[in-house]
Amino acid sequence: SPRSGAPGAPRILALANQKGGVGKTTTAINLGTALAAIGETVLVIDLDPQGNASTGLGIDRRARKLSTYDVLCGEATLRDAIQESGVPQLHVAPSTLDLSGLELEIANERDRAFRLRNAVKALTEDESGPRYSYILIDCPPSLSLITVNAMAAAHAIVVPLQCEFFALEGLSQLLKTVEQVRTGLNPGLSIHGIVLTMFDARNNLSEQVVADVRQFMGDKVYETVIPRNVRVSEAPSYGKPVLLYDLKCAGSQAYLRLASEVIQRERAARAAAAA
Ligand code: ADP
Ligand code: MG
Repeated sequence: SPRSGAPGAPRILALANQKGGVGKTTTAINLGTALAAIGETVLVIDLDPQGNASTGLGIDRRARKLSTYDVLCGEATLRDAIQESGVPQLHVAPSTLDLSGLELEIANERDRAFRLRNAVKALTEDESGPRYSYILIDCPPSLSLITVNAMAAAHAIVVPLQCEFFALEGLSQLLKTVEQVRTGLNPGLSIHGIVLTMFDARNNLSEQVVADVRQFMGDKVYETVIPRNVRVSEAPSYGKPVLLYDLKCAGSQAYLRLASEVIQRERAARAAAAA
């Protein structure tokens, strides 16, 4: 499409998995920060009513005057909701608990699945507004209308999978939803990659899960595996991404590698599209 091919158009990636606790929010925060650290301009759109991505990027709850709820209701533009974060070159459209009531409110609207896509389109067409090279969308732990809005707005999905026994459980349902969105709402949607999270080198099971997921999903799985790292889980309580909390720790270094892999995949895809 002309939009995705145009230089300067943002790449829009949604962090999705209907399971909770697999690392979606942590990856939105830290992949976003790592991309910004290596020169990209990033917008994180928080679509989880819990608002943990907003908090982890240093946006205090009291500072969330306009949120993604207002945007999806049609009562604010995305540009109005966007705030600067504690991270240079990274902005946030924060969420609040109001978002948990959104689905019922828009359930009967004709454009209910396209609320986010339309808001992002207005933002990127606004020549006087901020420009982003990457937009990351943090989804709630469900395959609800909110997640469908994210999938309808995105070029591609990044799927975090936790290195645990039931890692692959639920993946086929997620892939089915992606397929339905592709058929009905967003033909260009692809799976950008699968990121294995919370890898524990002391646990043989982690190795087994990595091997199984690679066998099942092939080169869709990023080479970078995110280790379980206490610094990663401590950082949000300081309102900071782990890269600003402890740049040298294994978690920060892994998210930097993931960011360069994401950029590499983007370059390869662009070169293939141009050829
Ligand atoms: P989700 O958004 O998918 O629900 P989160 O990103 O909130 O998942 O992660 C769930 C929990 O696991 C959080 O408490 C988070 O701090 C922790 N966590 C995530 N990734 C790591 C990691 N690499 N190392 C240690 N703890 C992690
Ligand atoms: Mg989350």
